[in-house]
Amino acid sequence: METKECSKCKKEKEISNFAHLQNWCRHCFSEYSKTPEQKMKMKAYIQNLPPWRKTYSAIRVRCNYGRYGKNGRSSYGEGRKMLITPDELKLLWFRDKGYLLKQPSIDRIDNNGDYTKENCRYIELLENISIGHLGRKQSASANQKRRLTMIAYWEKRKQNRQRRG
Ligand SMILES: [Zn+2]
Repeated sequence: METKECSKCKKEKEISNFAHLQNWCRHCFSEYSKTPEQKMKMKAYIQNLPPWRKTYSAIRVRCNYGRYGKNGRSSYGEGRKMLITPDELKLLWFRDKGYLLKQPSIDRIDNNGDYTKENCRYIELLENISIGHLGRKQSASANQKRRLTMIAYWEKRKQNRQRRG
């Protein structure tokens, strides 16, 4: 078993506890990222990313850490495969004129498909909410109710952001 000493906690740990070329173990990294300063830094970092990079991070989180885990499937994209690169998202951003959208959001054209360049496009968030991903087995009224809830959620979130910003 290959081990390595963490330069932060000084514990000898199995190599799987270290991300590629990192001298801190995963545990120390995750503790460090929870500190308020680090959270602020991370937030600022994300805010300064170009929009397609933000999309990329969001998709990656969904695919890898979604509610249903790596192999789970849900209508929100969790469990889908991440097969798109930041450069491809950038192409889509300009192709779909993401900069003209009020609330750009990434849509999978085929809801059962993965995140690929062919299967993704930027559309308005509200349009994205209304065209799909709403649990097709549910009744129309349940879908409508859910849609209104989601719209209210996004509106509230937007307002909160503006208040803070
Ligand atoms: Zn450590």
